[in-house]
Amino acid sequence: MGDMIDLVGLDRAELAAEVAVLGEKPFRAKQLWHWIYNRGATDFAQMTTLSRSLQEKLAQHYRLGRPTVSRQQISADGTRKWLLAFKDGNEAETVYIPEEDRGAVCLSSQVGCTLTCRFCHTGTQLLVRNLTASEIVGQFLVARDAFGEWPSPDDGGRLLSNIVLMGMGEPLFNYDNVAKALKIVMDGEGIAVSKRRITLSTSGVVPMIRRCGEELAVNLAISLHAVRDDLRDELMPINRKYPLAELMRALRDYPTNNARRITFEYVMLKGINDSLADARELIRLVDGIPAKFNLIPFNKWPGVSFDCSDRKVIERFSDELFNAGYSAPIRQPRGSDILAACGQLKSDSARARLTRVKEREAAGIVDEHHPAQ
Ligand code: SF4
Repeated sequence: MGDMIDLVGLDRAELAAEVAVLGEKPFRAKQLWHWIYNRGATDFAQMTTLSRSLQEKLAQHYRLGRPTVSRQQISADGTRKWLLAFKDGNEAETVYIPEEDRGAVCLSSQVGCTLTCRFCHTGTQLLVRNLTASEIVGQFLVARDAFGEWPSPDDGGRLLSNIVLMGMGEPLFNYDNVAKALKIVMDGEGIAVSKRRITLSTSGVVPMIRRCGEELAVNLAISLHAVRDDLRDELMPINRKYPLAELMRALRDYPTNNARRITFEYVMLKGINDSLADARELIRLVDGIPAKFNLIPFNKWPGVSFDCSDRKVIERFSDELFNAGYSAPIRQPRGSDILAACGQLKSDSARARLTRVKEREAAGIVDEHHPAQ
């Protein structure tokens, strides 16, 4: 029997089509949607509004996919990081970041990344593949399971109130799956996280920014990190394809207003992009765009040549932006006691797995299931 169809990740039309295939009435699709996304069902037997015979018929033909937790780390500051494994064994990271009055779940969109930003640990991991809509939604379902946040609580009473697509991968290089996953997440009769509470972070895939604005209109964050093309070409090779002027033009057309500004993420690299001249050029660059800044003290990882700017330099940079009328808070490092930086936990697991394989080989144990990579 072929692979069972996973109902998680199907949009409403696809779910209705499967219900029709089963010869069931259309309202069953609505019931399934409710159980999967509002009640967080992981087994058809939990769907008490469906007859036992229908539950069994569903279980014969379909599954309710959930990534499995390979590793979990919980920081003293409440940040929680999961390394999740998908059906084919590939893994990606998901992070829960608690804030005072809300909590964000950071989702990955690819295994590895298409891009190679020099300051990013994930950028050292070759792209393995795009995540499917089911695997993107599945990350949020696992986070809800972990906090027992089922059925979907009212908007005001949630621990997992926001979603940020700032994990592994470039979401706009996996647009179709990301868009499908976000439409499922935003559906008011299921998980019901509003577009105002979703932020998609991109390194600047210009053609898809327009589409994202038209179709999803979620909050946008731009991984900017440099204000001159020559430097950004070095730090983020995507800039060679979509240079700053083109990127800014696309952002001027993105649906924003004073309440929903574009967030410019700016990693503070010592002696590289942290001068006052850089700050002033940044102000000039975003002129006319409803903008706010997120200054990120660089989280150094093993093997990278960059260092984090000195605290005084970051504060001076922030003051320059504040004085120009922009919100420019300095991001508080979260989960510094766990492998918080994007991609670190995955690499650490891969390294540990390789060591285990090598040790077994040294001991003469040949393991065809886990050959040395
Ligand atoms: S910063 Fe984002 S786009 Fe760049 S390598 Fe890292 S994950 Fe990929």
